[in-house]
Amino acid sequence: MGSIQVAGDVKLASAGQTGASAEETTDGFHLVIDALKLNGIDTIFGLPGIPITDLTRKAQAAGIRVISFRHEQNAGNAAAIAGFLTQKPGICLTVSAPGFLNGLTALSNATTNCFPMILISGSSEREIVDLQQGDYEEMDQLAIARPLAKAAFRVLHAEDIGVGIARAIRAAVSGRPGGVYLDLPAKLFAQSMDAAAGKRSLIKVVDPAPRQIPAQDAVQRALNLLKGAKRPLIVLGKGAAYAQADADVRALVERTGIPYLPMSMAKGLLPDTHELSASAARSYVLPEADVVMLIGARLNWLLSHGKGKTWGGKDHKDWGGQQFIQIDISPQEADSNVRIDAPVVGDIGSCVAALLAGIGANWARPPSDWLAAVADRKDKNVAKMAETLAKNPVPMNFHSALNVVRDLIKANPDAMLVNEGANTLDFTRSIVDMYQPRKRVDVGTWGVMGIGMGFAVAAAAVTKQQVFAIEGDSAFGFSGMEVETICRYNLPVCVVIFNNNGVYRGTDVNPTGGPDVAPTVFVKGARYDKLMEAFGGVGVHATTPAELRKAMEEAVRSKRPTLINAVIDETAGTESGRITSLNPTAKKK
Ligand code: ADP
Repeated sequence: MGSIQVAGDVKLASAGQTGASAEETTDGFHLVIDALKLNGIDTIFGLPGIPITDLTRKAQAAGIRVISFRHEQNAGNAAAIAGFLTQKPGICLTVSAPGFLNGLTALSNATTNCFPMILISGSSEREIVDLQQGDYEEMDQLAIARPLAKAAFRVLHAEDIGVGIARAIRAAVSGRPGGVYLDLPAKLFAQSMDAAAGKRSLIKVVDPAPRQIPAQDAVQRALNLLKGAKRPLIVLGKGAAYAQADADVRALVERTGIPYLPMSMAKGLLPDTHELSASAARSYVLPEADVVMLIGARLNWLLSHGKGKTWGGKDHKDWGGQQFIQIDISPQEADSNVRIDAPVVGDIGSCVAALLAGIGANWARPPSDWLAAVADRKDKNVAKMAETLAKNPVPMNFHSALNVVRDLIKANPDAMLVNEGANTLDFTRSIVDMYQPRKRVDVGTWGVMGIGMGFAVAAAAVTKQQVFAIEGDSAFGFSGMEVETICRYNLPVCVVIFNNNGVYRGTDVNPTGGPDVAPTVFVKGARYDKLMEAFGGVGVHATTPAELRKAMEEAVRSKRPTLINAVIDETAGTESGRITSLNPTAKKK
């Protein structure tokens, strides 16, 4: 058996002598790997099993980093956030039916959040599935994935693998990014074809996410509106973070002198300590602003749909009177909730560059009374928060614990911050300042639980930086088994669990007096730190801010997988965190 090089650096066994021969063949496995490598894919997140086990082995042998998880949802979340961080589609590889379904939650979440991701799942034989004859893990996966993905494709023949992967890549990253499903039936992998023809069939995608230049009249309309504003505001969303137009976005804010509000994953695009940041005056600036420029942020529930009391309206349906400029790559986004007076459609890099060009050197800064009012409100709120953070109650509460996290991020601005939970999410978002773009990744558009460890693994793998995952004890449970993955790959991830014994709080009681605890209550005094120790990582039980600080600093120093069980007052926290209003029966306590 000879060994030859085809389609990149993958070695294939040939039936003939070493060297070129008509009998050289390649197969579905290698064509998938070669197509991915040809397009710069260097990492696959997944979980091996029938029929893709050999694909994971061969991909690793071919130099792709294959990170194996314990549950596909976490692999999918990892792929999605890798896509957000790199602008390359994150790849998640799963087995058929149940593995595919597990990955689907992450795929849907990626589509909802505009993260570029490709879920590749092995599937059963078409002939049997379509006649519903009961194949191993039979499921019509393509049909199920289609409504949840930006696009969905199936490849039946080895010679179409190149096209299938090219289409999946383009669909994931062009325009508004999203999740793409690629169905690869088991039979495809073993199909063989002539190696040279196979190589020719592969496609290196040219310009996968083409720039979309905004129309000049749309840019001018936006500038005119902005020019006439008395109380302008810029809202930066995670689309702006994704676009990697960091210097221009910053220049736009600084040259116009307009206060800005970052959505949670846009924090750090400009440092949260920037003088024009209006984060600490959010409830003041939203209703008071007269012209709001949205950059890569949708007017969805996270912005109260652009109307209602948050925006100065009389009731939840009433429009507050603001005029909106919206910069977005999707032409359909404008008017989704309220009228957009000046839509600017294009990629954020091109749109912001065009706005900057139109601003010129003589742009008048916003009226000083507006800037002074924002600064005044902000200073008061910052001072109030500083007082709260300085307290040192026993047991720890969210504020005293997060004061430590805040200091650690300040000292390590390169570190990634993963954040999920209810109260843990809300408090971390408002207390912990970020200093660099794309360092904060969280529950996103759905406010979903379960992203924690998947995001943490990918953040470490992609950025090679220290990762802090600040987790509610409930949120951690959705992906907690991946601490084994973190240990297996020896990733510099420090998980901090804010343990208050339950969902929201640990104080609910069973009203019947029966033996079961209340549905929101967990095992009291649980030692999550032991979980990390079980796999060789560092576990720390912290009951004071000093212990928490010491453990986090040690994690940064050692770079070892670490889990800190930070014990929080079980009465701390509110039902549903800050979204109590969405909970049909809950009253704010
Ligand atoms: P947030 O939750 O931070 O408010 P959203 O997810 O609601 O952010 O909004 C992100 C928006 O950014 C989406 O409407 C998406 O179409 C847009 N977007 C994503 N990438 C780009 C890009 N490169 N250029 C322009 N708009 C983008």
